[in-house]
Order: sequence, then C-alpha cells, then structure tokens
Amino acid sequence: MTPRRTSSTTIPTACLPCILLGLYLLPFLRSFPYFIVTAATPSCSLSKENCRELAALNLNLNISFSNTATAAQDFGHMHHDRPSAILYPSSAQDIVAIVKLAYFSPNNLTIAAKGAGHSIYGQAQALHGIVIEMSSLKGIEVGVHGFGEAAVPFVEASGGELWIDVVKEAMKKGMAPRSLTDYLYLSVGGTLSNAGVSGQAFRYGPQISNVLELEVVTGKGEIVICSEHQHADLFYSVLGGLGQFAIITKAKICLHHVPTKVKWVRAYYSDFSAFTKDQEMLISQENENSFDYIEGSVLDKGKDLNSWKMESHSIEDLNSNVTVESDAPVLYCLELTKAYFVHESNLIGKKLTSLLEPLHYLPSQISIIDASYLGFLDRVHDKERDLRKSGLWYAPHPWLNLFIPKSRIIEFDAWVFKQQLSGGINGPMLIYPLNRNKWDSRMSAVTPSEDIFYAVGLLGYASPRTAPTAKTLMDQNSKILYFCKTKSIDYKQYLPHYVNEDEWRIHFDRLWPRFRERKLRYDPKAILSPGQRIFSRSKTLS
Ligand code: FAD
Repeated sequence: MTPRRTSSTTIPTACLPCILLGLYLLPFLRSFPYFIVTAATPSCSLSKENCRELAALNLNLNISFSNTATAAQDFGHMHHDRPSAILYPSSAQDIVAIVKLAYFSPNNLTIAAKGAGHSIYGQAQALHGIVIEMSSLKGIEVGVHGFGEAAVPFVEASGGELWIDVVKEAMKKGMAPRSLTDYLYLSVGGTLSNAGVSGQAFRYGPQISNVLELEVVTGKGEIVICSEHQHADLFYSVLGGLGQFAIITKAKICLHHVPTKVKWVRAYYSDFSAFTKDQEMLISQENENSFDYIEGSVLDKGKDLNSWKMESHSIEDLNSNVTVESDAPVLYCLELTKAYFVHESNLIGKKLTSLLEPLHYLPSQISIIDASYLGFLDRVHDKERDLRKSGLWYAPHPWLNLFIPKSRIIEFDAWVFKQQLSGGINGPMLIYPLNRNKWDSRMSAVTPSEDIFYAVGLLGYASPRTAPTAKTLMDQNSKILYFCKTKSIDYKQYLPHYVNEDEWRIHFDRLWPRFRERKLRYDPKAILSPGQRIFSRSKTLS
C-alpha cells in the first residue's frame, strides 16, 4: 500500500549538511519495517536522538522501507534485486530531492525509476538502492502544440502513466498516439527509455520518434524541459537512453485523428521469401491509402491455426476458419489493419480487396475480422487475462528481441525458425520489417545500419511443469546470439540485456563514446538505472 503523505514540507535541496546526515542514516533505516520521512517526528524504532536528527532533515517524501520485495520483481521473473526503499513521488520535486540525496551519498546509493516493471532482466531494479514507483506520479492532458497549419495535437502524460490510459484519454477526443506498442499496459517512461515498436512504426517510427517535449530530472537532480529546440542533446540522450541520463517525469506525445473501426487481416504463407517481399513492399507504401499496421509472426507447424485465429472483441467474424495444408516446417502469418469510419462501411470491403490484391499469401488462406479501433489497440490484454489465469504470466520469460538487417533475414529464417525453433517456443515469434529512416540517429537507441531491418521477438513462456524450461529457452537464445555473431550479422538486441561494460561497448559500437560522454554529462555519478548494468556507481567515470 502506498504510504500517506503527512505534511507538505519538501526537502530543502540546497541544505547539504542535512542531506549528508540523511545519507548517514539511510542504511540504518533499511532494517525498519515502514517509515514516512516527514517533518513531523517519525514513529520508528530508531533512537530518540536519531529520530530528532532525522526530523531535522525536513524531508517529506513518501518512502516505504517495507514491502521492498515488490520492487524486486519484473515480468521476466528471473531477477530479484531488492532495494532498501521505495519512493512514491507526487511531484518531480520529490524525485529531485531523492536524486540529490543519492548524489551526495557516501554509500554508492543508486536509483531506478520503475514504470510498469515489464522488464525481463531486472532493468528497473536497484540492489540496496531506491526504486521510484513512477505510477504514483499522475496526469494526462490532451492539447495542441503550435498554431494554424503547423498545429500538432499532443497528449502530455506523466512518466509513470500507462499507454492504455493515454490512449483512452486521447480517444475521448477522437485521437490516438501515432506509434504504440502491441501491449499497452507499459509505462510512458519505460517504453521511451527503450524505443516502443509495433506495427505502426514502419510509417511513424518508434514511439521515441513521436515525442515533442520531455520534462526530466537528470542524475544531478536538475529538472529540465527539453525538446528538439531546447536542451536538444539531453532530449535525444533520454529517448532510447535506457534510463541512464535522466528520469522522465512528463512527455508530450504526438497524436493523430483516428477512425473508430478497423479491418484486421491475417494472411498465411509457407514461403518465407514471398512473405518478406510482401512485408517489404507494404512498408514502402507510406501513404494513407495503404495499411496502417503491418506485423508478422512465425507459427510452428504443430500449432492449430484456429487457436491462433483472432481473439474476437464483439466482432463480425468473416472468415476465421483457416486450415493451411503445407509441408513447410513453419508457417508465416502477415498481420495487417486498415482503419475506417463507420460512414465508410460500404467502401471498406472494396478498398481492402484492392490493397490485398498484390499479395502472395497461400490461396484463400486469409482471415479478416472487424474490430473497434480501441479493441484492436488493446488486443493483447485478453491474452494477458488468459495467461494470468493459467499462471504463465507469472512464469519466467526469457525473451529475446533482435533487430536483424534485411540482407540477412533469409539466412536467419533458414537456421533459426526453420531449424532451431521449428517446434515453437511456447509463445509468439514475431517478425516484421521497419524503416530505419524513421529513427533519428541523435537518439540513444541503436539499430542495424541497413535501411530496412526486421524486428524479431522470441517471446517464450517457460513452464514450471512442462517444457520448455527457462533454461531451455535461455540456451536457445544463447545459440541464436552465437549464430548471429559467428555469421557476422550486424544485429542489435532490442531491450538489450548485457552484464558488463565491454558487452555494452560492442552493442553501441561506434556510438559508445557518445553514450559514455552523455552519461558523464547528465549522470556523472552513475546513480540512475543500475539494473541495466552499463555503468557502476562504485567505479569512477572519467
Ligand atoms: P520498466 O520495466 O519499469 O523500466 C524499463 C527501464 O526503463 C528501466 O531501466 C527503468 O529504470 C527505466 N525507466 C522506467 N521508467 C522510467 C522513467 N520514467 N524515466 C526514465 N527511465 C525509466 N516493447 C515494444 O517496443 N513493443 C511491444 O509491442 C512490446 N510489447 C510488450 C509486451 C509485454 C507483455 C511485455 C512484458 C513487454 C513488451 N514490450 C514491448 C517491452 C517493453 O517496452 C519494455 O519492457 C519496457 O521497458 C516496459 O515498460 P515498463 O514501464 O514496464 O518499464
């Protein structure tokens, strides 16, 4: 439960002796079950003198020293670094106070902002440090940026807000963010610290390409408003910056007007080359007359395609009984949508027929359903409910996400999908192409250097009782990474997981010096997001 704030006084951030005293006391506080740091004398089992000294700090932050195990959990369910405390901020000032506290800490104190905690390998955790529960920072507002023809509608959201709530608020005004993730119960700050990719990214770029402005707290405890025009270096550092430079407290995100309905298509292929050629042709069509969303997946042959058919949301099911007969070791599913307004219902069928006409899917192996726009965007939520019921949501998820250059994708398919993973991974295997020109190279996120690269998501669920185990899935991942390395494929891990600076140096490659300089500039004491294992607070950065 979130502790209740008891007074409105905030930390006097310039009061260095007070801060140092607080840091001296912090390690002692770890052992106490629950505590609100406040101007009033706290009731805790510290000595009276210590309590008086602590009260003199004039801190008024919602900090809990109990239930810290909740911040040692994430979606991966494999990594558990327990912090000493959890901060529930109610303003950016609260975050400034805690960052300044850590900045002057003699105890190598670190801080991790935690959004929805959907990381896999503890990226939002901070061993013995402080986790900031960003969800307690609230606020979503829709507005317009600029004037006249140049006006861009936007939504401004606190860093801990979930995309589902952002989408719902924007949709009240007939709009939605241009680029989203497949699953919307992720936080704004969490996905902007990575990239945020899905089937709209071919046209609008990842979520990080759709941000107008950020409010952040740097690793020095400064609040900065940054954008393309103001503190641009910090702005681009933070976008895809893996939480290394600053904590995102607010983000202004571009919106566009959206229809209320979608035609949702799945078309099946046995020939990988035909599948990828169609995908690449489709992502080259960037005008409004083409599809709005383009993804794809690999299906293992044993899979009952009807179990894969769309999980319907009060929809008219036009043709979902697909039965593909093929000798191919795996099948490929192209997934598309075309959005439309209800008043266009008479025309959409014809439009869809003409858009599908040039594609090379297996004869009549296509499934088309009608869904509400929001129902489609929120499609993974139903799956989540099922997985929660079956317990698999809480199982280990050794996921591997990669960006593979277009020139090597056939080779990747031949070895990875057709041989190694032809039996499936007990979870989705996604594959779809993206246009690199939609990624701004000033951002911290890195991609392969080719103009088109594929997002590949191997999203396996380990099973406690039946195969595959977490170890099997992790061994598979290692083999795939080894294959990419030995074949000199210019791949990048997306949502990267590495364990030391040398591996990160290889990941960022020629952009490593820039990443390191940015760290020195904005978080010189390496306080932020220690769970990414890029920099260590105990080692001096220079
Ligand atoms: P957290 O796990 O809480 O944090 C991730 C990192 O960001 C940590 O290092 C943390 O310290 C840092 N961070 C968090 N908040 C802030 C902040 N406000 N300021 C600065 N740093 C911060 N990704 C996609 O791109 N597309 C998808 O379609 C997609 N689907 C997914 C579906 C599921 C079911 C899951 C579990 C994940 C999916 N992801 C997808 C991955 C997801 O984008 C990342 O795991 C992302 O980090 C999750 O956001 P979060 O709020 O849970 O972040």
